[in-house]
Amino acid sequence: MTRKVKGILLRMGQTVHDEKVLTVLTEQMGCISVFAKVSRKKMQYDQFYYGEWVLYETASGNYLLNSFSLEEPFHALKEQMENTFLASYFAQLVLHFCKGEPRDTGVLLSLLLNGLYLLGKGRAPLLIKSVFELKTMQLMGYCPALAPCEHGGAHFALEDGSILCNTCAMPHKTVPATNTTVAAVAHILNQPASKAYSFNIPEGELVLLSKLTEAFLFYHLGLRSSALEMWKEMK
Ligand SMILES: [Zn+2]
Repeated sequence: MTRKVKGILLRMGQTVHDEKVLTVLTEQMGCISVFAKVSRKKMQYDQFYYGEWVLYETASGNYLLNSFSLEEPFHALKEQMENTFLASYFAQLVLHFCKGEPRDTGVLLSLLLNGLYLLGKGRAPLLIKSVFELKTMQLMGYCPALAPCEHGGAHFALEDGSILCNTCAMPHKTVPATNTTVAAVAHILNQPASKAYSFNIPEGELVLLSKLTEAFLFYHLGLRSSALEMWKEMK
């Protein structure tokens, strides 16, 4: 059976015999593995290429690549090395949710496409990173509560995302939060993926926001990202 899906190539795995394993994020099917014959011709696809994948589904449920029509190569993004590292970090996050318990990772596609497009357009990388981290966490089931303690505070609790005063924050692991960063977090949580990136925030607050979203993510996921470390070194 042949089927067509729109998707973005996140990873090209090792070649086994004369086949490569591609990991493609699609909206309808989430992350899928696609087996592609390695030919001597120049490859038609590369990491972060988005387009239509024509797949042949075998009787055992594997997908073999029939053809690929490119719609968006994200060339503008790849002109800057540091953007490529940030995009690789995003891919690692998506791939993290593609393993283990089944999740609807297809919902991450539009968030990723919008983020990569805006990065290529020159939008502030820290803003794109903050939105991608937090919205991915929310869509995958980790949503900060933003519930304030009764005293009003400036600490964001990493466990549940409540906003705590000095005293209430004491037993918890927290990062600093201001009214502006909390408002930005609320915007990202309340808007759909297509609109989550549209807001402005002063530079200093953006640095705080990025620290907050990153700390929240790493607190819950317990992963390491070499791509994120490389991006920080280059920045
Ligand atoms: Zn309190």
